[in-house]
Amino acid sequence: MGLTPDSEIRFLRGVGEQRMKKYQRLGITTVEDLLRHAPRDYLDLRRPCPIREAAMGEQAAVLATVGHKGSERLLRKGLTVQKVSAFDGEDTLTLTFFNGKYTVAGLREGAEYLFYGRMEGTLTHREMTSPAVFPGELRGLSPIYPLTAGLTSRGIAKDAATALAALPAFPEPYPDWVRQQNGVCTLDYALRTIHSPRSPEEAQAARRRLVFDELLTLCISFMGMKNGRTRQTVQPMERVALEPFLAALPFPLTGAQLRAIREAVEDLCSGTPMNRLVQGDVGSGKTMVAAACCWFCWKNGRQSALMAPTEILAEQHYRSLSPLLEGLGMRLELLTGSCTPKEKRERKAALKRGEVDLIIGTHALITGDTLFRELGLVVTDEQHRFGVAQRMSLSGKGAGANVLVMSATPIPRTLALVIYGDLELSVIDQLPPGRQRIDTYYIGGDKRQRAYGYIRKHLDQGYQGYIVCPLVEEDPEGGGVPGLAAASGYLEEIARGPFAGYRLGLLHGKMKGREKDAVMASFAAGEIQLLVSTTVIEVGVDVPNAVIMLVENAERFGLSQLHQLRGRVGRGTAKSCCILLSDARGDAARERLRLMTQTGDGFRIAEYDLKTRGPGDFFGMRQHGLPQLQIADLAADSLVLRQAQETAARLLREDPALASMPLLAQKAARLTALTAG
Ligand code: ADP
Ligand code: MG
Repeated sequence: MGLTPDSEIRFLRGVGEQRMKKYQRLGITTVEDLLRHAPRDYLDLRRPCPIREAAMGEQAAVLATVGHKGSERLLRKGLTVQKVSAFDGEDTLTLTFFNGKYTVAGLREGAEYLFYGRMEGTLTHREMTSPAVFPGELRGLSPIYPLTAGLTSRGIAKDAATALAALPAFPEPYPDWVRQQNGVCTLDYALRTIHSPRSPEEAQAARRRLVFDELLTLCISFMGMKNGRTRQTVQPMERVALEPFLAALPFPLTGAQLRAIREAVEDLCSGTPMNRLVQGDVGSGKTMVAAACCWFCWKNGRQSALMAPTEILAEQHYRSLSPLLEGLGMRLELLTGSCTPKEKRERKAALKRGEVDLIIGTHALITGDTLFRELGLVVTDEQHRFGVAQRMSLSGKGAGANVLVMSATPIPRTLALVIYGDLELSVIDQLPPGRQRIDTYYIGGDKRQRAYGYIRKHLDQGYQGYIVCPLVEEDPEGGGVPGLAAASGYLEEIARGPFAGYRLGLLHGKMKGREKDAVMASFAAGEIQLLVSTTVIEVGVDVPNAVIMLVENAERFGLSQLHQLRGRVGRGTAKSCCILLSDARGDAARERLRLMTQTGDGFRIAEYDLKTRGPGDFFGMRQHGLPQLQIADLAADSLVLRQAQETAARLLREDPALASMPLLAQKAARLTALTAG
């Protein structure tokens, strides 16, 4: 049987079982995977220059004839050096190869080659160390691929060429208008050109097509999930006036809160199940949006469930919502792991009889045997803790229930549209009035004692504070990073020294849920003055009296994560501050921390995080259920992303099942299966 794009890579001539395993490490299993493995850059071999014209200290391609090959010398165990001289008719170039036995053996004396590397030495004595070597007649751009041990760029290029020679032209996976409208080249041209372009322009055109395809598949996959769900129907709700609810609030809602509520109410009244994400920075007041929706459902005779990722948060919601909603006549209950079996039984029974209007609890709440009499709405708080898969199973559970998810992880809008392509989006881009800016300082370890003094001053005034450390214990064997401040040892040290006599507490990820809750409760009650903690306090904890935070090894955290952490202070009316302590040397790390001192805008921080760390590392990306992208760069390719989104929408509108585009449908389905796991 002939080779097809779907053939396993081991059927390609020259690739056996061994090489196949190496390719698998790069995520390449089929011939098409190999062809879509795009170079990350190219060496420009179009115009080799004479040795003397190559600029000193710069990369250059020179054409020269191999003369004398020196013998191999052992520098130390495992390291050999060999020198080769080459001549271009005017000047001599000395080439140095380390462990280059096979490369040097392949050079024939008297033959001409292209050497690519950094030109060094003096005017009279030119040198190049470990240059890349190419046949003398080669011209064009030579690909550099993302690699893994045992594979070279030359080797991959050769395999790609073998595959392309054996394959007929690639068919287009979608109608012609897509290509015309988005100005992309054909797939066949892209795959044949990306591995051996003759110019940067050709490479660019080829790459753009492959990026477009990757993003289109992604958009179709995520939008497909959304379409699949909106075909269900639910009983539309009555449009009752929100005034009684608004009148009961101690403060007027912000315009952004009102807008989000109105958008959610539209969904509830539409007859198709609501699937809405409310995204708003820490402290933007998402809870009130949820409360309004629950109240609206109650007015319509339906029950609601509010789920939080931790017991602490569930209890916090219960405490803050009970006075308001019970005052309006609703019946609230709390259901968490701390309830006794009897309490759980009773509360569930009441829920089933319809005697509870809003149940608040942890995620486990709606799983298992919990039953409602008439469930109208499921609200999930701090959604970034749950992946796409859980979200899907969740909405499946309520069989057509309305779903509202709330997230404080600010995500650039373009990205949100892909990640949450299956959700409608409401953004709360406004903070309640009177909110104070959290003063943020970035200092080195030499100022630690002064920072401690500053914290003591706040504690003495009756305020509380946090010290955040990146790791629980120093664990040299288990991947712990030596030198990191470790929370438990840290606590002991400051308890003996700078904070002797203060009431200290410890919170870390290895503690049991019950222990954590006890510590948090004690902190919330003001018994603990200073809480030493790992990042477990990150989500939603609300202790308005805590006004100061110190973050150790701040460079270890993602910026978005730091932003979340920082949001734990500044929740009351007192001026709050956050001190980032870091001895990081690198410019990039310093630049990142400096940004934190300059802005409190979570979206700007997220954009910066995305730009400087790359989408693969973007905080929470994996948790958002976004697959690792092969070639597209969501930050740099946002324009193509927008085109892909529009195209995906139109394709799905015209042909919802993609019946006329089996290739595309197949790819999207594969991706959906992958992400929904
Ligand atoms: P988050 O979006 O982080 O979940 P919360 O809902 O916890 O924010 O709200 C943070 C604080 O702001 C709470 O104490 C809440 O009572 C208060 N709040 C919410 N909305 C407003 C508003 N419109 N005006 C004044 N304070 C508000
Ligand atoms: Mg919240």
